[in-house]
Amino acid sequence: MAHLGTIRDVAGLIAAGLVQEAARPALERVGARYAIAVPPAFEALIERADDPIARQVVPHAEELVTAAHERADPIGDERLSPVRGIVHRYPDRVLLKPLLACPIYCRFCFRREQVGPDGGVLSEAELEAAYAWVRARPAIREVILTGGDPLMLSPRRLLAILDALAAIPHVELLRVHTRVPVAMPERMKALAAVLGRDEPVWVVVHANHAREFTPAARVGLGLLRREGVPLLGQSVLLRGVNDSAEALEALFRAMLAAGVKPYYLHQLDAAPGTSRFHVPVAEGRRLLRELRGRVTGLAWPTYVLDIPGGHGKVPIGPDYLDSDAVADPWGGRHALAGGTGAG
Ligand SMILES: *Cc1c(COP(=O)(O)O)cnc(C)c1O
Ligand code: SF4
Repeated sequence: MAHLGTIRDVAGLIAAGLVQEAARPALERVGARYAIAVPPAFEALIERADDPIARQVVPHAEELVTAAHERADPIGDERLSPVRGIVHRYPDRVLLKPLLACPIYCRFCFRREQVGPDGGVLSEAELEAAYAWVRARPAIREVILTGGDPLMLSPRRLLAILDALAAIPHVELLRVHTRVPVAMPERMKALAAVLGRDEPVWVVVHANHAREFTPAARVGLGLLRREGVPLLGQSVLLRGVNDSAEALEALFRAMLAAGVKPYYLHQLDAAPGTSRFHVPVAEGRRLLRELRGRVTGLAWPTYVLDIPGGHGKVPIGPDYLDSDAVADPWGGRHALAGGTGAG
């Protein structure tokens, strides 16, 4: 089933044997609404129609059904955008979305109403306006490039953006959120030199299943590591993808083996047509609790929920202690009571 390029439509999915002809009408409607992309690296990993890789990238008729609680902008990013491409929620950091294209279109994406292969590329003038906005706000210490996927930019354009941001005196940290190292690992060769800079660019790799860390992905990540690029991982807890203690353990071990420190495990955001991926928070907490003591502490991400309405991310456990008093080796409650000064 080898294809030279990325599958971008239902005809391509059928030709590759990833979906049945009978599903065509419904999937055409899904495709008209949400972009499709299955690059060769992911296609090669798919063993059957509903496996953990296929579920992430192959469209499904259930995407046409929006549940009552699902929202086009589930975490409330839109009204936090002062200028095009910028999302500002926290005082010290800001998101910059230079484009909205991605190497794959995740069927559970919280920005699925925005991302896609066309549109969303900031013009030079819009980029300048975004830099000026950051330049005028000394409280901002960190710029997080996201999108879309910033590593879909040409190395030349990415370099220009990193240079412009690094030149702003109060910007101490640059970060890139990306799926490219696992979804299009062949791009890393040209990008590694751009990401390896005097000031570290922290790269946060989005991956949800151990199998995404193929030999090619590990080679690409190795190039980043040799350039001195610090690597973190983020994942989404997804039904049928990584919703068991075994799958999470394998995922976090695969990340560490590739030099990627698990950073966040996200609770799924309520984007339209994503219910089939939902795992309740209580179950997520139970799964993480099962991992404790079983895997190295380095493998531990923080399990977070992005509270709808623009409130931001909060850690949601699991709690390992039944009671503060039992756990406090000093015998009192005060040490764990949050710095009230009682004692
Ligand atoms: C997630 C997010 C960040 C980054 O949060 P960290 O906890 O620092 O990783 C920044 N801004 C917005 C709007 C976000 O949603
Ligand atoms: S790579 Fe990220 S932004 Fe793009 S579709 Fe997947 S989750 Fe959404």
